[in-house]
Amino acid sequence: MDREWIPYAKQWIDEDDIDAVVEALKSDYLTTGPKIKEFEKKLADYVGVKYAVALSNGTAALHAACLAAGIGPGDEVVTSPMTFAASGNCVLYVGAKPVFADINPLTYNVDPEDIKRRITGTTKALIPVHYTGQPCNMDEVMKIARENNLVVIEDAAHALGAEYKGKKAGSMGHMAIFSFHPVKHITTGEGGMVVTNDRDIYEKLIMFKSHGITRDKSKLLTEEGPWYYEQQFLGYNYRMTDIQAALGVSQLGKLDDFIQKRRKLVELYNKEFENFEGIKTHHQMKEGKSAWHLYVIQLKGNLWLRRREIFEELLKRKIGVNVHYIPVYYHPFYQELGYKKGLCPNAEKLYEGIITLPLYPRMTEEDVLYVVKCVKEIC
Ligand SMILES: *Cc1c(COP(=O)(O)O)cnc(C)c1O
Repeated sequence: MDREWIPYAKQWIDEDDIDAVVEALKSDYLTTGPKIKEFEKKLADYVGVKYAVALSNGTAALHAACLAAGIGPGDEVVTSPMTFAASGNCVLYVGAKPVFADINPLTYNVDPEDIKRRITGTTKALIPVHYTGQPCNMDEVMKIARENNLVVIEDAAHALGAEYKGKKAGSMGHMAIFSFHPVKHITTGEGGMVVTNDRDIYEKLIMFKSHGITRDKSKLLTEEGPWYYEQQFLGYNYRMTDIQAALGVSQLGKLDDFIQKRRKLVELYNKEFENFEGIKTHHQMKEGKSAWHLYVIQLKGNLWLRRREIFEELLKRKIGVNVHYIPVYYHPFYQELGYKKGLCPNAEKLYEGIITLPLYPRMTEEDVLYVVKCVKEIC
């Protein structure tokens, strides 16, 4: 029998999601309309924050967040190297310098002690990344931010629904961003969100996503008539469509069920790997409750020397493995900017030995058992 390909991640779209999109298509609004407002309100309520702004994708959300934080040329922003390139790129978009702090080798999240070592007189902000959905040590991160007067932007692209000491990921920093790319917890095709409790930041974000233009009478510098609006600074078109927001609202209703399913699959993976010597599963802090975006295993002992062979063997068995992540500053673009290998030894060591195994809500227990069986055979 021919086995079907098991992808590393996959969206879950039902008929009612499709109906929601069709309904939006038949409505008066295709772009900014009532569905955007509804999606923003529901997501803000879910995360437990006052404001949410929907944007065209998670990267645009990071860019807008950096702009709203007032980050610019001459500033430094400390983030993790164990992330998608966008967490560093957004700092470059605004003309500032990304600084990479090393990870904690247990949690794989950025290490607050190393953040402290990387702070200089020009550090302006921190972008902690809740890698794989496990929240960072936010008490420590916020303490460092208070002591050094820094803005904290949580990159919660992996962590929608995750919790830290009973608080939702994304509710602890000055801002947080989410992504609705199909591999993430819920999808709008492309899509992103910035959340915040700060009214001023919220108003800036609204303007940045729409050319820096306002029509708000209380904000206009002059008044020339009912047609009048003003561009007050340089913004972008980073708007999400109402079609996407309709899908987002529909998906958000299923989020807790998706997370539940992810957690059950992870439990099974962990149980099956419990007494297996070849690999180490991802250690979880007791203060956190991961939303499990990714299931990452670490090869033990000298097995990391065979990572490529193991990876290729798993692909041959139709398992969609991946590696999250190549340390951001390894990329040629960052190397050309002057970042040198050796900068974050823990992240570099981790990168050598990790493999991401498939994990998505529609994955079956039988799929998990097959993946585990193959890993055990090969390692
Ligand atoms: C997916 C992701 C982003 C970017 O989101 P897009 O919607 O793809 O632009 C940013 N940071 C992290 C950690 C991500 O995983």
